[in-house]
Amino acid sequence: MDDHVIVFDTTLRDGEQAPGFNMNLEEKVRMAAQLERLQVDVIEAGFPIASEGDFMAVREVARQTRTSIVAGLCRTRRNDIDRAWEALQHAQKPRIHTFIATSDIHLKYKLRKSKAEALKEAVRAVKYAKSLCDDVEFSAEDATRSDLEFLYEILAAVIDAGANVLNIPDTVGYALPWEFGELIEKLHENVPGIENAILSVHCHDDLGHSVSNSISAIAKGARQVECTINGIGERAGNAALEEIVMTMRTRPNAFNCDTKIKAEELFPTSQLLSKITGVAVQPNKSIVGDNAFAHEAGIHQDGVLKNALTYEIMTPESVGVHGNKMVLGKHSGRNALNDRLNQLGLHVGKNDLQKIYEEFTKLADAQKNVTNAEIVSIAKNNMTCQRANGAAKATEPELSEAGIS
Ligand SMILES: [Zn+2]
Repeated sequence: MDDHVIVFDTTLRDGEQAPGFNMNLEEKVRMAAQLERLQVDVIEAGFPIASEGDFMAVREVARQTRTSIVAGLCRTRRNDIDRAWEALQHAQKPRIHTFIATSDIHLKYKLRKSKAEALKEAVRAVKYAKSLCDDVEFSAEDATRSDLEFLYEILAAVIDAGANVLNIPDTVGYALPWEFGELIEKLHENVPGIENAILSVHCHDDLGHSVSNSISAIAKGARQVECTINGIGERAGNAALEEIVMTMRTRPNAFNCDTKIKAEELFPTSQLLSKITGVAVQPNKSIVGDNAFAHEAGIHQDGVLKNALTYEIMTPESVGVHGNKMVLGKHSGRNALNDRLNQLGLHVGKNDLQKIYEEFTKLADAQKNVTNAEIVSIAKNNMTCQRANGAAKATEPELSEAGIS
């Protein structure tokens, strides 16, 4: 099996559909350029029939993108497909992504169609899309709540009609990781012609399993993963691109495959998205959150200062964060405080450090964390001698090993 996992980024489509995350044309183009720097394989730029703005943004992203495939979403209707193609046709590498719901619930209540009708429409759409564009992806919306036999049947039929990527969305975030992995295995075993197509997954985070489900699918042979920066997307969001990529990079022995993502661009990409949308990333967010490489607890800070491997499974630099962050607060120890003093050009002896530390903990108890300016001020008030930037030798023995508080 191919060892390359295709990263299909849908920040500009599924992500942008979420309330509060809309982007204008210029912002989408800027984001797409950064996604190319990140080296995503596919950029889903929008849903061209949804609005004039979406159409123009997809067309502009398609025109400006050089190396990544640019995908546009469309339903199975002919005018949807036409509109998508109109927006995509000038892309270096265009892809038409068409979808229809396959679950009984969606067929009965949303589409009011029989399975046979849905299958016929899917085949017709894929054939038509293929007549316009070589690269055609088909999604079986709500696949995880679909009748399995019907899923086999419709997937086999669309492969036959020319679809080269088959996407299995967990549209409502309902699947469990082991179930979803099993589903991917079953599709590989039971869909005729599947060896000629790429199996893709698209997981939502309603129960918090989107990344685990995606990872489980990759372990079982899925070779395209649909995801978004910062995990943005409909409702609780999509699988977070940065978490999937770094899971595979941090645990390479658990996978026989990898992505082409340039991981050092993960943090800058996350920051750009926050800046454009005005929505901050939660501080405890994996990989790109403000606290992802921050340490406040004394024991942790002491360990990290001795060797970062004690509490960090990847380096901040590997994802584009410059250095870990030692947050000085009430949980911090003398060692971290001393380290910060040194960084600020203040070298203190053991006795002075104790006095400074006592003052510091009083302040840290009263407020959330302590700033550099406050540390300098406490230090200056409590130092019997001062050696800034190595200018004068301290009379007291320098602190070599601080205790853990
Ligand atoms: Zn979605």
